[in-house]
Amino acid sequence: MSNEIVTDVVIIGGGPTGLFAVFELGLLDLKCHVVDILDRPGGQCAELYPEKPIYDIPGFPVVTGQQLVDNLMQQIAPFGPQFHFNRMITGLEKLTDGTFRLTTDAEEVFLTKVVVIAAGGGSFQAKRPPVEGIEAYEGKSVFYSVRKMEDFRDQDVVIVGGGDSALDWTLNLQPIARSLTLVHRRDAFKAAPASVSKMKELVMAGKINFLLGQIGRIEGNDGQLDHIHITMDSGDLSVPATRLLPFFGLTMKLGPVGDWGLELNDNLIAVDTEKFQSSVPGVFAIGDINQYPGKLKLILSGFHEAALMAQAAKAIVSPGERVVFQYTTSSTKLQKKLGVA
Ligand code: FAD
Repeated sequence: MSNEIVTDVVIIGGGPTGLFAVFELGLLDLKCHVVDILDRPGGQCAELYPEKPIYDIPGFPVVTGQQLVDNLMQQIAPFGPQFHFNRMITGLEKLTDGTFRLTTDAEEVFLTKVVVIAAGGGSFQAKRPPVEGIEAYEGKSVFYSVRKMEDFRDQDVVIVGGGDSALDWTLNLQPIARSLTLVHRRDAFKAAPASVSKMKELVMAGKINFLLGQIGRIEGNDGQLDHIHITMDSGDLSVPATRLLPFFGLTMKLGPVGDWGLELNDNLIAVDTEKFQSSVPGVFAIGDINQYPGKLKLILSGFHEAALMAQAAKAIVSPGERVVFQYTTSSTKLQKKLGVA
């Protein structure tokens, strides 16, 4: 038997856009459930660059990916959204009475009047290097992103790759790691030239090692690494390693979203720019997942789209109810909803 959850709105994706949608919908008294494949909120900001600075969020000269997510979570707390993490929405079906039936890979069923797809780049997964047995070390000593820099303090860190992530983390972790080795198969890097120059200065100063080669065998026990073998033209070398960060890129897959009969453009959901509604009335798409002329894949675009979508969602959930436009600064009604009046 499946659990059935009945609600006004289901938001697919808890990235920055999905989180801000909770706020805009909440101001209009719409209750939301948020479902995400990841184990926590924040989408790309939390998963790919939690400690990197963002400089183009209006009103924040600088904010890291994780700080932005934490602030959004604080901002939406008054509306009590219900989160369902570690779940993928797999099915979307419109019932004859106009309700949508959404199903997850954990066999939950949501019955909702409005669906908001804020699925970003779809489900993203780090590419795994072709190293035998690496799965046993993942999440313990092999990581595909840096969630907490402290986990790397006083560790023998090996970073593999030549892109921005590999070079950024080489520079950021060098001051706290016991030792740091960067491994790349070529002497040419895709990363920003300034980062490459800084990395080379650190190598010259003897503060990090750079090896031209590829990772081969890994050694350790119970998921804890101790050595990694690097295959180089000059022969194999074994380096001490208690943390491995392979940056082999990400695969972004649209996933089940592509199977729901929505009109797509270049694998993104086509929407209008008045309501950000898809080709199926009642199904909205906001943030990186949508496509319209002039679209910019920026966080601030997702925020704007969420505000307009919410007005249209309200008209579906409460047909005929007049919505008076109000500012949070001056409306006591809105301030009561936010718990500040
Ligand atoms: P996402 O953040 O991608 O979140 C979508 C969520 O949906 C994910 O958590 C995913 O797991 C979930 N999901 C997908 N499919 C399903 C499903 N079927 N079921 C359940 N959950 C699902 N933007 C800026 O504006 N400024 C910057 O400086 C900036 N810097 C960036 C730096 C990097 C390194 C990267 C990678 C991106 C950067 N961006 C920046 C882009 C920005 O992160 C994205 O525009 C933003 O994250 C989009 O938000 P979103 O909520 O639409 O999607």
